[in-house]
Amino acid sequence: MQNLLDDAIKYGKKFAVQGKPATYIPELSKADPGMLGVAVVNVSGQSWKSGDYDSPFTIQSISKVAALMLAVMDRGEDYVFSKVGMEPTGDPFNSIIKLETIRTSKPLNPMINAGAIAVDSLIAGKNTEDKINRLISFIRQLCHNDKICYDEDVYKSESSTGFRNRALANFMKDAGIIEGEVEEVLDLYFKQCSIKVNAVDIALMGATLAEDGISPITGKRLIPRSIARLVKTFMVTCGMYDASGEFAVRVGLPAKSGVGGGIMATVPGKMGIGVFGPGLDEKGNSAGGIKVLEYISNKLDLSIF
Ligand code: GLN
Repeated sequence: MQNLLDDAIKYGKKFAVQGKPATYIPELSKADPGMLGVAVVNVSGQSWKSGDYDSPFTIQSISKVAALMLAVMDRGEDYVFSKVGMEPTGDPFNSIIKLETIRTSKPLNPMINAGAIAVDSLIAGKNTEDKINRLISFIRQLCHNDKICYDEDVYKSESSTGFRNRALANFMKDAGIIEGEVEEVLDLYFKQCSIKVNAVDIALMGATLAEDGISPITGKRLIPRSIARLVKTFMVTCGMYDASGEFAVRVGLPAKSGVGGGIMATVPGKMGIGVFGPGLDEKGNSAGGIKVLEYISNKLDLSIF
């Protein structure tokens, strides 16, 4: 496994340098696109790492998986899916177009920004601070790392430039999709996207999902099986946005990307894989990270299809 990961990083580097860090969040544009790291954690808790596996990055959209699980545990599946749909969009992650063209204005799925903002409005808590603390503590459990917290600089950078996300949230408030104050929901969303992790953290989250919700480290059930299965299905159909189809063909694993450069992948019953490479392709997914996953999946024949 160690040799395989080293080779995967060597292979992925060629593609990583062709990617570009996200610039629409100014703080993220500082990242070095040549960085690339990978971590694998199997369901017995054994781990292997290579490259920039311990470099911190912001979790960004990978947090949408945790937020969805928490919202479903808080409010129940039926209520959550009365506010957000279950269909892939074929549009970019921050697109607004389908909110108006599709009847009911329900965002199509919880992995795009609109859907994730709607989901955030359903997380239980007295106020934003309580809600973000609940979400961080859940992510700490999923990653088995109690040091995880959000990055103040990235949060401020996102919050001061999040015009598109504000547009999505205001549109959904008008359509009766969002509960509560728009700015409070957005504050939760920006903070959750700014949570700092590394490749090992997200590999552990992937390994927990691989075991249908049981932590590979403690053996404790953190998520009901039905909810673990639900989010893995969304990861397959919508986790890589409008690149989910091609990713399913080439890699064949449930995965979720973020514009910080992370991708969390899960191999059901076997392992979690976390990759980090801040050079993004034109769809906002880690260019080198996808290639690392493709390499590993092909060599170990991991596709679920
Ligand atoms: N914080 C980012 C945004 O709202 C998350 C998007 C992503 O990771 N794809 O645009």
